[in-house]
Amino acid sequence: MGQQPHALVVPFPAQGHVIPLLELSYCLVDHGFKITFVNTEINHALIAAALPEGPSMMDQMVRLISFDDGLAPGEDRRDLLKLRDCLMKTLPMCLEELILKSHEPGEDKITCMVADGMAPWVLEVAREKGLRSAAFWPMAAAVAATIMKIPKLIEDGVIDADGFPMKQEMFQLAPGLPLMNPAHLTWNCYGDRETQKEIFHLLLDDDQRNRVAEFFLCNSSYDMEQPVFAYAPKILPVGPLLTGQRLGKPVGHLWPEDRTCEAWLDQQRPNSVVYVAFGSLTTFDRGQFQELALGLELCDRPFLWVVRPDLVEAAIDAYPHGFRERVALRGRIVGWAPQQRVLAHPSVACFMSHCGWNSTLEGVRNGLPFLCWPYFVDQFLNQSYICDVWRIGSKMMPDENVIVSKEQIKSKVDELLLDEDTRERARLLKELAQKSARNGGSSFENLKRFADAMKHEGD
Ligand code: UDP
Repeated sequence: MGQQPHALVVPFPAQGHVIPLLELSYCLVDHGFKITFVNTEINHALIAAALPEGPSMMDQMVRLISFDDGLAPGEDRRDLLKLRDCLMKTLPMCLEELILKSHEPGEDKITCMVADGMAPWVLEVAREKGLRSAAFWPMAAAVAATIMKIPKLIEDGVIDADGFPMKQEMFQLAPGLPLMNPAHLTWNCYGDRETQKEIFHLLLDDDQRNRVAEFFLCNSSYDMEQPVFAYAPKILPVGPLLTGQRLGKPVGHLWPEDRTCEAWLDQQRPNSVVYVAFGSLTTFDRGQFQELALGLELCDRPFLWVVRPDLVEAAIDAYPHGFRERVALRGRIVGWAPQQRVLAHPSVACFMSHCGWNSTLEGVRNGLPFLCWPYFVDQFLNQSYICDVWRIGSKMMPDENVIVSKEQIKSKVDELLLDEDTRERARLLKELAQKSARNGGSSFENLKRFADAMKHEGD
């Protein structure tokens, strides 16, 4: 093919999706692609505002474009189901126009599409327009495999036809996979019962739609989730995508990063700081937030804590009385951190995390041990990987419904930081993860195979 391959990349418009799909885009640029990356107008403006040096920082080969998500200006975009509903109505038509326009003389013809596995309804546009296509799954491969095998879970009596647990006991999808609690299946960990049922059926539909794609890529590696790929061979691991290697490039943040914490980290002793961050969606109730603050104070170690402006439900200043003054010298609090840079910093000793998949990969890639504090969706499964399969961390919350006390927080942090075996396992997993994504590694080769295939236009 004479012309440059040009991929249309379509993330679901949430932070944990935009970041890995942008990273995948940079990888495709390395393989000779030009990229058109599609954001909602709101996210587009946030990403541009978050770039420290403005849009000129973007890679020249990655063109960011935007479209109206169909929601009214003040509507809550954290309601992901409502957002999805609107996008399904607006996005396919926008993409169709974009593809047609790119086929006009003098334009860079779009030759293929990579769609977020959580926005698979756009794949139909690729099919109609004769583009080759791939779905990209930004969560663990085990989550994708679980969804693909829903009929078997129903047949085995693990869940009913609406996805609700039929058994209380833990089950295993396949030998070697983490033990799963049916109540912690992805769709059973979000919203009320009606919402859970709705999500379950949406995921079943999405699974069918994703099958239109020629490739099903996943941000994971054989080393991290070996048994899944034998069980669901359609899933092709291409990760962990190494954003950390591209520190000069914009990551796609929807919040402005507070980079002052890097200078603060420079002043701390190597391997001393507890980094505490719960991703882009998690919220805390005031009581647990205060206990966490007191727990970090009790640890008597340096800590860097990300407190997003919307982290605590209904609270302007939720900190315990006098807390900020008392910890001012050894605690740093920011609204949004440059997390990948923070995790790569030698002062950071461990990662207290909600176990979102991106955060999990970022911690793994930097060889850090974890303190797991999962909240919803896939985070309980990711915790099982961290604590039970890879054994590189420990659980903060032995019982979901009980507040974790400041004394428990202190003892968990102390235990983890003294645990040499866990640190060693984290170091070994880091090496495997980095090796797989480097030139010649299994994920790198998978990505190359996929990129080579996409270079040839569809029939
Ligand atoms: N993140 C960041 N700064 C922060 C908190 C999070 O850059 O202060 C990034 C983090 O590096 C990760 C993403 O936001 O890439 C969050 O994705 P994840 O899957 O971990 O969690 P989600 O936000 O989807 O729950």
